[in-house]
Amino acid sequence: MASIHTTSRSAELYERASRSLATGVSSSLRRFVTQPPLYIDHADGPHFYDVDGNCRADYTLGWGPLIVGSNHAGINAAVARQLEKGYTYGCQHIAEIELAELIVDSVPGVEQVIFSNTGTEAIQSAIRIARAHTGRDKILKFEGHYHGWLNNVLVSYRPKIEDSTLPQATCGGQPAGEFSETLVLPWNDVDALKDLFQRRGQEIACVLTEPVLANSGSCMPRPGYLETLIELCREYGAVSIFDEVITGFRIALGGAREYFGVEPDLSVYGKALAGGFTMSAVGGRAEMFEVLRDMRTIHSGTYNGTSFNIVAAIETIRELRKPGTYDRMNAHGHAVAEALTTTAAKYGLDAAVSGVGTVFSVHFGVTQAPRDYRETTRTDMETYGRFREAMLANGVQLLPDARWYVGTQHDDAVLQHVIKAIETSMKETMRC
Ligand code: PMP
Repeated sequence: MASIHTTSRSAELYERASRSLATGVSSSLRRFVTQPPLYIDHADGPHFYDVDGNCRADYTLGWGPLIVGSNHAGINAAVARQLEKGYTYGCQHIAEIELAELIVDSVPGVEQVIFSNTGTEAIQSAIRIARAHTGRDKILKFEGHYHGWLNNVLVSYRPKIEDSTLPQATCGGQPAGEFSETLVLPWNDVDALKDLFQRRGQEIACVLTEPVLANSGSCMPRPGYLETLIELCREYGAVSIFDEVITGFRIALGGAREYFGVEPDLSVYGKALAGGFTMSAVGGRAEMFEVLRDMRTIHSGTYNGTSFNIVAAIETIRELRKPGTYDRMNAHGHAVAEALTTTAAKYGLDAAVSGVGTVFSVHFGVTQAPRDYRETTRTDMETYGRFREAMLANGVQLLPDARWYVGTQHDDAVLQHVIKAIETSMKETMRC
């Protein structure tokens, strides 16, 4: 593994970018991931190479999508073949059908799908379908859950705890009127859910949940929670929507449906679905899409079904379907998680890991994995920040929120490297 030099070229480029590209970055959070934001020259398999010549093992996976690594030969070849046949048609093509069939064959209970480009969009399609299906307006979501950046769902993402069941805007420019149909509850609390359904169940069009709370500490659902959520939706005629933008094709080939053995009405996919290309989808029982067939509502988008994204998704899923893939990714993730907790213990630091092998979070300063957003606020992010800086200097790129992503590209050589980096970085962190 190459050693780490400076980041001076990234700093120069950031300064240059900031003159013409507002904020210097293309997504707000990226400004704060590293100082300066890193400029990547290229990526290959599990490694990111920045413009200063640093090579790092990457556990950010582009915030999730790169589940089969960068520069993947199969994806490259399929996309190159497709590019010669055209980019986007605004018409139908065979690969679209092949991808739909592959998803239906891979995910339990998904009989039909629709395609779009980003997770944010696909969430809105799912909500619209649910509203058209039920004739109701209210959306129920949970504290700390992220469902894209639009006003009706970017609500109580990082709420003030004192009044957190009042829907709260997450940033400026979100008029309260645009989330007046959104209800918010703490997650993983069956009683709160039952109580709300008893009082307002007839008003609720849909319940939106991340099945694993990956965006806030990778909290796991309590046993039976997801089942109860789905049952309450059925009882009161609301639509259950799993936001599987992170968990889909990641925690199992069939995502949370397969992992937890449950079948919500709709699931939303993005990120890992196309291995780094721009694809999202909504899947569910065929009956759910009746509102599109009879034109009660519409689903549209110039770039829906763009050919090279579709073939990238097909190749990604084919790669993920190879025998033993998930076992290997999970074993890697568990080994990293084990290294994190045992090394922390060695240096006298409390640490707990939550989540699953392919997406997990490490929590410093606590001994129990958190179960909801409120509990995640008790973890020691300041120590994690110092640890992450040390990891970066020791050749491992991590996300700022303590979430780790694992993909098929993380082999034994990367494991040995990361374990060594954890040891060195933990020692350095505890010395400061
Ligand atoms: N849902 C979840 C669970 C996500 O994590 C994200 C993105 N982080 C989204 C939706 C939005 O997806 P996108 O950024 O592709 O719009």
